[in-house]
Amino acid sequence: MSNQSSSFYTTVQSNFDKAASLTDHPKGLLAQIRECNAVYQMRFPVKIGNSYEVIEAYRVQHSQHRQPTKGGIRYSAMVDQEEVMALASLMTYKCAIVDVPFGGAKGGIKISPRKYSVDELQKITRRYTVELIKKGFIGPSVDVPAPDYGTGEREMAWILDTYQTFSKGNEIDAVGCVTGKPVSLNGIRGRTEATGRGVFYGLREACSHEADMKELGLTPGLAGKRIVVQGFGNVGTYSASISQDEGDALIVGIAEWNVTLYNPEGIDIAKLIKYKKKKGNIVGFPGAKALKKKEDWISIDCDILIPAALENQITAKNARKIKAKIIAEAANGPITAGGEAILLKKGLMILPDMYLNAGGVTVSYFEWLKNLSHMRFGRMEKRFNQNTYVNIIGTVEKLTERSISAKEKSLITRGAEEIDLVRSGLEETMVNAYNSIRDIKKRRRKIHDLRTAAFICALDKVANDYIAMGVFP
Ligand code: NAD
Repeated sequence: MSNQSSSFYTTVQSNFDKAASLTDHPKGLLAQIRECNAVYQMRFPVKIGNSYEVIEAYRVQHSQHRQPTKGGIRYSAMVDQEEVMALASLMTYKCAIVDVPFGGAKGGIKISPRKYSVDELQKITRRYTVELIKKGFIGPSVDVPAPDYGTGEREMAWILDTYQTFSKGNEIDAVGCVTGKPVSLNGIRGRTEATGRGVFYGLREACSHEADMKELGLTPGLAGKRIVVQGFGNVGTYSASISQDEGDALIVGIAEWNVTLYNPEGIDIAKLIKYKKKKGNIVGFPGAKALKKKEDWISIDCDILIPAALENQITAKNARKIKAKIIAEAANGPITAGGEAILLKKGLMILPDMYLNAGGVTVSYFEWLKNLSHMRFGRMEKRFNQNTYVNIIGTVEKLTERSISAKEKSLITRGAEEIDLVRSGLEETMVNAYNSIRDIKKRRRKIHDLRTAAFICALDKVANDYIAMGVFP
């Protein structure tokens, strides 16, 4: 067990304890919520080249108070049991905060994906899925994986195909066994961008409260705010591009594992994405300068810092160097307990992971619902709505004896596509969840930070489920 991940798990547990001590729930109930219900550690052989490698992997179901359990699968050389337990625990709280009716889970395979060919990654993924099937750790009503660090829709497609092969075609909802699938394979439009888009909605909402911004010495609104993003993968890319395109924010720094780019005038994120696609990484991008020391991303002069890579990035050692006023936790567990104490003392606002990166699981929930209903969102009502709007416009034109231009008409009368509905559902979820957490912080005098408020929000909902079940009367 690495010290890094053990400190991550300890941090999650101690944050839980801090919030739990502020509630009136019975000790036994709190202990039940806190611990991981099922931990499956596995080892299996996979032929790599001419020899066999024994692969270490995990699936942890933190809480089955609601089923299925849900959580991504991570491929990283740093994966270990405590890391997966920490991530599974966060999933329970995350689902509760955004009212997604799942328990928390997480999976991990201890490999560095860069070291394997696509064929080898496919073999490893399929074998892992078989292990999950054998132990009943996957299924649309049991446990539903999704992408996380190091995985994406390609891996989800392999998982689906393996699951379907073993379900012998007689399980009508089999496609709901995993989310984050390609759209052509029963995925949903908007899932790939969902976590980053959720980060944008959360940030925009947090910045919209004038009084809160004033406390930080900032003006309200996301427009013009200078942002630095650490990690330019799925979550970091979309957080940066949507904040720039739809929020008019200025992305002044992007940090990757091998370089930190800086441009005080703003980095063109669309160009950087294209550059990364072509070159495989962001080193040498002409639209920004590379900092001498890549670890100096932490001290770039900015308003908002978005860690979107891995856990334990902001620690007691580097937290004092931060100039940002808001830390937006797009990654899971990016701040250690020591780092957090320093930041809170400095009066920074921390938007906690269990709220801010919940966009992924929210849209995964929409995908799972789509899979169970066997129908694309919008199919039934789109044309009906469109015709209704056309009739309303026609009546208005007749009554006013004025006509609307064809361009305007087609804009106003457009019925919602699946992507519109997904984005609308995600926006509603992120805005409501932020305000319920903020309300808890404002209402309760003993709560001084958004993480504790988010924990209390989650804890109360999970506790209520157990109480309603009659488990803890
Ligand atoms: P990803 O693999 O797509 O991207 C991670 C990026 O971080 C990569 O580009 C990698 O090179 C970079 N990176 C690694 N180490 C780094 C370092 N030391 N400094 C700077 N960059 C570094 O992963 P992702 O899916 O974007 O996940 C990122 C974080 O977001 C993780 O903590 C994950 O748990 C969390 N998250 C992801 C999702 C999702 O839907 N993918 C949902 C919720 C939370």
